[in-house]
This record gives sequence, structure tokens and C-alpha cells, in this order.
Amino acid sequence: MRIGQGIDIHRFSEDPHRPLVLGGVVIEGARGLGGHSDADAVCHALSDAVLGAVGLGDLGRHFPDTDPVWEGANSVGLLTEVVRMAREQGFGCVNADCTVVADAPRLAPYTQAMIDRLTAVLGAPVSVKATRAEGLGALGRAEGIACIAIVLLEQL
Ligand code: MG
Repeated sequence: MRIGQGIDIHRFSEDPHRPLVLGGVVIEGARGLGGHSDADAVCHALSDAVLGAVGLGDLGRHFPDTDPVWEGANSVGLLTEVVRMAREQGFGCVNADCTVVADAPRLAPYTQAMIDRLTAVLGAPVSVKATRAEGLGALGRAEGIACIAIVLLEQL
């Protein structure tokens, strides 16, 4: 068994046309997050957790944000690739648990869709929970969104 954790944070984009994508799900009518890829903090935290569990470094090492290839990248695709890399090391996912910290928008109506999407990618049960920063700090001022993820892997 191997355990891994990941954290990711993105600030909201100034671009009003950028979609908000979390856990591979588009949150309708919400301001998007800024970043080189689609800025899906849930996929990024989960990807870092999987990479950490198998000792393969971090997402930036494999998909550098200085590389134009990854500009606007679909992060579900990055997560899919990371899961494949873990399998190549002989490890498959057992389960994962994600907590999204966002004071805005309200994510409860979307968590089940994120769970379904991520469970399909990992091939193992994924939990997605949403919480608020209760007005404290940058997250509490709704300047961005963070996600913390933990994953358990087993030798195949
Ligand atoms: Mg990120």
C-alpha cells in the first residue's frame, strides 16, 4: 500500500469568459480560475497525490507550465496520464478523498458530478467534499479556490 497527498490553489481569473472547471466538471455561471492549464485545482491536487504515492515528484515536473503544449490543457487528461504512470510503476488506486475549499461559488450541486467523473478516471471510489474558509484569509475573501486530496494505492 502507498499513500499520497496533494494540495493545489488557484486565484480567480480576471478573464470573464474563462470557465470554472473543478474535478472535470464545468460550474455554470461561475468565474473561472487563472492558470496555464484549465486550472482545475481538484484534478491537480489529486494528480499530485497519485504522483506522491509512487514517488514520481509533482505535476509541474511532468507537465511544466512553461511548456506551451499544456496551455489550456484539460486536467482530466493530465490526471488520466498520471494514473497510467502509477500503473506503470505497478500501483492502482484504492480510493481517494478530496476537500475543496471555496467561499464562492456554492459547490454542493456539483460534487456528485465531480465524484462520478473522478471515480471513472481513477477506476476507484473518489469522494469530493466542499467546505468554506468562513471569511478568513484570501480563500475566505473568495479570491480563489484550493483543494486538498489524499489517495491510497495498492500494488497490482
Ligand atoms: Mg494547479
